Amino acid sequence: MAVSGLGPYDPNNIFAKILRGEIPCNRVFENEHALAFRDIAPRAPMHILVIPKGPYVSFADFSQRATDAEIVGLTRAIGHVAHTLGLEEAGYRVLSNMGQHAGQEVPHFHVHLFAGRPLGEMLP
Ligand code: C5P
Repeated sequence: MAVSGLGPYDPNNIFAKILRGEIPCNRVFENEHALAFRDIAPRAPMHILVIPKGPYVSFADFSQRATDAEIVGLTRAIGHVAHTLGLEEAGYRVLSNMGQHAGQEVPHFHVHLFAGRPLGEMLP
């Protein structure tokens, strides 16, 4: 069932191809349930994407279908990346675009991590 308005999961979306190693990425961290890599078009000095390894279209889909272990794995990956890249002192922003109104472009759930400059009150 599509829960995000984005349709069913497309196994040929670009992040699925990255997960299968068919397209390269600039990997920064990986655990059993999540992969973190640098955004190809960074909107901050530090712009990392963290994605689950499972086939989830969006945050809505992930929050409803993922196992507790997958949710913990993704959350810990975000925190680990921020910590190991030294982002905690100056701070960072975690964001996920869900669906059309938020401008989600890639139909594989992903979390943006922005840092490296003051990010302002509005989103980058
Ligand atoms: O949240 P949204 O779907 O708009 O974000 C998708 C992100 O994926 C963009 O920031 C884009 O630069 C990034 N991207 C990437 N590598 C690709 C394709 C897209 O980092 N090969």
